[in-house]
Amino acid sequence: MTEVLNDRAAWLKSGAAKCSKPPAVKGPPRRYILLGPPGAGKGTQAELLAARIGGCQLSTGDVFRAAKNTGAASQSPAVRTALEAMAKGELVQDETVLEMIRERLRCLHCGGGILLDGFPRTVAQAEALTALLRQQKIKLDGVLNYELPLATIVARLGGRRICQTCKAVYHVENQPPATPEVCDKCGGDVIQRDDDQPEAIRVRMEAYERSTLPLTEYYRKQGLLRTISAAGSPEEVHHRTLTVLAQA
Ligand code: ADP
Ligand code: AMP
Repeated sequence: MTEVLNDRAAWLKSGAAKCSKPPAVKGPPRRYILLGPPGAGKGTQAELLAARIGGCQLSTGDVFRAAKNTGAASQSPAVRTALEAMAKGELVQDETVLEMIRERLRCLHCGGGILLDGFPRTVAQAEALTALLRQQKIKLDGVLNYELPLATIVARLGGRRICQTCKAVYHVENQPPATPEVCDKCGGDVIQRDDDQPEAIRVRMEAYERSTLPLTEYYRKQGLLRTISAAGSPEEVHHRTLTVLAQA
């Protein structure tokens, strides 16, 4: 098993939860949004970037999946509605997502930096984030916009597997765990996500094109957008990303 660097408890559980290890601080905190269609490899790149330049991977999808594991009895009506939308591949309502972000405000200040993965996903969320960051005096370094052809996206999503415990990402062909269905990092169960089924994938792609794609224009106008091809191996995409960051 490889070591889990940080369990992201403050992000995944919120409340009074403390992360298992302080963030690895590598110079001034770097703060990026990872944008792109589902399955482009944002989570995979976030992990590689966190190891290289620091930064905690703040995935809103991981927070909802963690809430799902807590069981129906401890879920608020808003969370239950969110989980129903998620299972179908639809976006969760902006207000629910934004409330979740506000509850995790201290993560945005993380001294190790932040890699926002899957948030924002609508223009309303992006506008709310801009206002929140301005109010908190937090400056974004850039928006990494990963692009990938649809056929490759579908192949990546169909083969994706995740660790139920630490949320590490695998792929049945490209990146299988060393022992089938056992997480290399924490020994947790490696499972398929409910929304990685063909019908939910279709709905998610539609939601991406309708609601998330307009964010490229939003961030281009702010001079923050860096578009990167997500084709090739994770390491190739990572090196491409580092090259883009070095030019910024
Ligand atoms: P996203 O966070 O954008 O939804 P993930 O990082 O979860 O995407 O990646 C989706 C799937 O594709 C996972 O199974 C992952 O292992 C696989 N994957 C990610 N990047 C690559 C890559 N560059 N080449 C091949 N497979 C990849
Ligand atoms: P992801 O793990 O980023 O692929 O997200 C999985 C699912 O969680 C999405 O299909 C949505 O249902 C929900 N979700 C995650 N982040 C957001 C967001 N910022 N806005 C709306 N829905 C979200």
